[in-house]
Amino acid sequence: MKISLKDIRGVSSLEGKVVLLRLDLNVPINEGNIVDDFRIKASMPTIKYLQERKAKILILSHIGDKGVESLSPVADYLGVKILPLKFDQDLSKDIRSIPDGQLAMLENLRQDSREVSNEYSFAEDLARLGDIYVNDAFSVSHRNHASIVSLPKILPSYAGLLIQSEVDNLSKVFEPEHPFLFILGGAKIETKIALVRKFTDIADRIFIGGALANTVFKKKGYEVGVSLVDDGNINLDFILNDDKFILPSDVTVSGLSGNIVKKADQVSPGDNILDIGPESLGELKRVVDSARFILWNGPMGNFEKGFRNMTEDLAIYVSKTKAKTVVGGGDTIASIQSLSIMDKFTFVSSGGGAMLDFLANGTLPGIQALNDKKED
Ligand code: ADP
Ligand code: MG
Repeated sequence: MKISLKDIRGVSSLEGKVVLLRLDLNVPINEGNIVDDFRIKASMPTIKYLQERKAKILILSHIGDKGVESLSPVADYLGVKILPLKFDQDLSKDIRSIPDGQLAMLENLRQDSREVSNEYSFAEDLARLGDIYVNDAFSVSHRNHASIVSLPKILPSYAGLLIQSEVDNLSKVFEPEHPFLFILGGAKIETKIALVRKFTDIADRIFIGGALANTVFKKKGYEVGVSLVDDGNINLDFILNDDKFILPSDVTVSGLSGNIVKKADQVSPGDNILDIGPESLGELKRVVDSARFILWNGPMGNFEKGFRNMTEDLAIYVSKTKAKTVVGGGDTIASIQSLSIMDKFTFVSSGGGAMLDFLANGTLPGIQALNDKKED
């Protein structure tokens, strides 16, 4: 299964055209400084491509989710470190006056509430500013927001280079080399259950760690103490009855005697399972050794509370295998960021929720929408 995209590289002349370029420049900012420029770097190939072809580029992005944050630090960063840039909040200003090959950027789209509520009038206001729409905001393309799904109803619309690369690389997961190992961790099983169901058919082995494992332990009737579990009424019998699934055999708990490792079925009522244990990690590594394709989403433990050893050890191990490795998820990336091994995986997705939705459904609303414009 491979979806075909309308590629911006198929457009013959972009010179002098105003391109509305939707990016995800929602980078973490601390006291006005950009903490991590991963998303800015990931957006550069399309910016460069459009510049070389002498388009006038108007960047559209959001930052934060309260609708009050400013993209001004990002504009400064782009302007100083990368490219001269005009930063403006005024939709009525004429972008056509900027020279070919130059950039401008609008203020945080979410400052206008019509972006998130997906009001067509906002898409129309944006569309008036340009000739062509390019979506390169993969990590926002699972959202039904005006700049993602409505704008492409109005303008000729294309996918940017990052979206192309995400779709190409993530689609490989649907026709993987075997043995295919899917490693799943993190929390909130209801956001991942569709993925688990889908990959029960595709993967050869599925390891479940993180807080997801707690929920499965509980369904199995194990004591899980005060651990984080999802109590929703999700039927997990298909996991319990299939030996394709691997659960941690031991866990790291925080309890009355401090942090200790216990067998998964010997947890006490006062214990909090916060990580997998070393035996489980060893077992998982053996499966990694024999895999030819590995998809990994979700940390093995509560890394924010310092339970990061197993996740980091696993990340380094996976990064060194000969297997093809695809890794993604907002917290997954955050948990292994400091290891500087991102370039050692075959592919690291820029999407969190977008990656999960793409893997579960094979496409995203923002990708589908690129085909929405009625030809006139
Ligand atoms: P991603 O964003 O990579 O898809 P998730 O959002 O699903 O990952 O999950 C990440 C969260 O899961 C982190 O906040 C982490 O602390 C939490 N987590 C993982 N294992 C545990 C655990 N055993 N107990 C509590 N929280 C956990
Ligand atoms: Mg997350």
